[in-house]
Amino acid sequence: MGDKKQIFLFKEKQTTLQDQNEVLTASVVFSEGPAEVYSYLIPERLRKEVCPGKRIKVPLGRANRKMIGYCVALEKITSTRRLKEIDSVLDETTLLNEKMIEMTAWMAEQFLAPWGQILESVVPAGVREQAGVREKTYLFITDDFCQRWQEEKLSPKQRKVLELVAKYSGRLSPGEVAHRVGSTVAPIQSLRKRGILDVIRKREMVAEVKHSQVQKEGDKLLSPQQTNAKDQILKAVYSKKQKTLLLHGVTGSGKTEVYIQAIQEIVRAGQQAIVLVPEISLTPQTRHRFQARFDSVAVLHSHLSASERHAHWQNIASGKVQVVVGARSAIFAPVPQLGLIVLDEEHEPSFKQDTAPRYHAREIAFFRAQQEGVPLVLGSATPSLESWYKASVGEYQLLSMPDRVAKQPLPSVSTVDLREESKNRGPRGAIARKLYLAMKEALREKGQVILLLNRRGHDTHIQCHDCGAVVACPDCDIALTYHLNEDRLSCHYCDYQQPAPKVCTDCQQGTIRYGGLGTQKLEIQIQKLFPNHTSLRMDTDTMKKAGSHEEALAKFRKGEVDILLGTQMIAKGLDFPNVTLVGVINADTALHFPDFRSAERTFQLVTQVAGRTGRGEREGHVLVQTYSPDHPAIMAAVKHDFEMFAATELPARKEFGYPPFGTLVRVVVRSDTEKKGETFSDQLADYFEKEANKEGLSIRMLGPIPAPIAKIRGKFRFHFMLQADLQTQQALKRIGQSALRAFKRIDPDVQWIIDINPMEML
Ligand code: ADP
Ligand code: ZN
Repeated sequence: MGDKKQIFLFKEKQTTLQDQNEVLTASVVFSEGPAEVYSYLIPERLRKEVCPGKRIKVPLGRANRKMIGYCVALEKITSTRRLKEIDSVLDETTLLNEKMIEMTAWMAEQFLAPWGQILESVVPAGVREQAGVREKTYLFITDDFCQRWQEEKLSPKQRKVLELVAKYSGRLSPGEVAHRVGSTVAPIQSLRKRGILDVIRKREMVAEVKHSQVQKEGDKLLSPQQTNAKDQILKAVYSKKQKTLLLHGVTGSGKTEVYIQAIQEIVRAGQQAIVLVPEISLTPQTRHRFQARFDSVAVLHSHLSASERHAHWQNIASGKVQVVVGARSAIFAPVPQLGLIVLDEEHEPSFKQDTAPRYHAREIAFFRAQQEGVPLVLGSATPSLESWYKASVGEYQLLSMPDRVAKQPLPSVSTVDLREESKNRGPRGAIARKLYLAMKEALREKGQVILLLNRRGHDTHIQCHDCGAVVACPDCDIALTYHLNEDRLSCHYCDYQQPAPKVCTDCQQGTIRYGGLGTQKLEIQIQKLFPNHTSLRMDTDTMKKAGSHEEALAKFRKGEVDILLGTQMIAKGLDFPNVTLVGVINADTALHFPDFRSAERTFQLVTQVAGRTGRGEREGHVLVQTYSPDHPAIMAAVKHDFEMFAATELPARKEFGYPPFGTLVRVVVRSDTEKKGETFSDQLADYFEKEANKEGLSIRMLGPIPAPIAKIRGKFRFHFMLQADLQTQQALKRIGQSALRAFKRIDPDVQWIIDINPMEML
């Protein structure tokens, strides 16, 4: 067996051996299999090749199965026992530098995930698999021939070939040479046979990063607020000390322009920047903004092929790329001279990965910024309360941009009380009269309209008229949604599908009533109400094809579409000056979720979608349909008043010990059988409680109870939440680690996960 050890890092960098008993070893982490770090002897023949950040092949276990592992460190040890030897080295170049390795070790501790699993998620698969790399052959003239060239007889074709090869020695392949001299490869082959030409083989990246031609643009003259923000960021850059700045700028205040001009300064100094945006914002608009201002931008989005991703990675690592713009995982981009990290829309939950390893890009950005001693800029019109709180206690520097550029006013927002609506008119369409009139007005004046409805499908509530049974997914604890085009019901969690029933399958006689409102139904109603205007629906159903998102937005920009309706994918980041009206069809969809962030999410969504209007010369208006016009989140959004929202929400968080005032750890147990899941979650909760007591920690346990969505994909779900003050965070993680060890081998029907600082509560 190898030697199991604790995590350590680069204690020893010098690799010359002084003592006779000393041996040089590589510390190896496996992506699958054992979670511990193992030591392997580095045989003399591999001395030069083995280094941290490369993958190597080593024998593991009694059967000496060949396993691939990451070398994370080299260490001299005084050998006391026989260690196994490394078999071979897989990578020619290192996949990760030492700082990145250090980061992965930290992530493993922070997010309670096996180190190997972290490494696998940090290095993209395309890079590991060397996607897009081919072996290429290049021609050169042999030395031998150079000595005796006068003796050889050559045909004119061969002479031409030799002239060309002499000129581009080692840079042209046989095919390329043949093509250029206009012959087959036959003369080349005969020259090779005669020992006049020879080839060298090189492994090369053949995949290319697609470059879109973008018209370059000049700088905008910054407003005083923008200038101040940029200056403060650059001051932090020059101070060479890590600092986090929270840029709170209302929608349309020109945050992106601030990032761009700050980054230009960094690029001039020969450094690079990473800009993280939510995946949904990686629209052509964002790409264009950066590509129009920098020579070399890498845009990392989820539609890249493995080889494109690999090509980007190499370009980035070589220092050729000035700015990396990408979603969550772009925080792992291997930029060699990091100068600044920007996290735009920092409040977005999508910065947290919802599968293992469950990391939050903001926390990693913070770690990298500290490691490199560079500033981190968090930007948002609706900052997370976590970041806002840190700014308010001085941990972050607050930068405010309370005004839109060119002093456009923020749009006027008013509510439509749906309670009154339904009282007055009985059940009716999705558009209240007030919104209908406002739409008519806006369209008559040639403005464009955005409508937000955060539910897709046609009918969202399908129920038996007689027995009251709601048609739900057999595998999930979720009501099914009716989709018109397919004439089927589908589950939005597991994609289960079934024909739309006419008669109740429960009581076998009642008629089924279809109700509830999704974007599909809204679209039909809009087409009826506004037959002379074009509308377009954007939701995951209509945006399945790659490129459809871009296409839809381009149509809207060109004015081919008057009314854009859709789910939250239309709520964020879009900048269309001709939008004069935004309608929120139902602001309450997220308000009553069993999630302590439900008010925050509602405030964010309404504020963000409201921010899509009034960006041009004309004023913008927003109408918010709601059953709870008096809810503080809605009231604050109506006034564009983030501080007012924070002032009402923070005390509530404090009272209950929720973030940012406390630490939260969520444990979710899943099982095929309800009983097993329940028993195991009780057992696990007991363990946490006992360990916490042993350490004298004061924690609050919520649950275990069935999760709000009690079943997904046939698995029963239970959860509990551990709450503690911030000082207890590390101790709580330690208990989490020990629980992971203690409950490693359990009934295979039961799985469990632990989520540190969860964003997802359902
Ligand atoms: P935010 O991200 O804060 O919502 P944007 O960066 O999208 O704001 O900027 C809103 C619009 O204002 C964009 O069209 C942008 O090009 C424009 N803009 C930004 N700064 C300036 C400026 N200083 N002068 C003129 N236009 C600007
Ligand atoms: Zn389902």
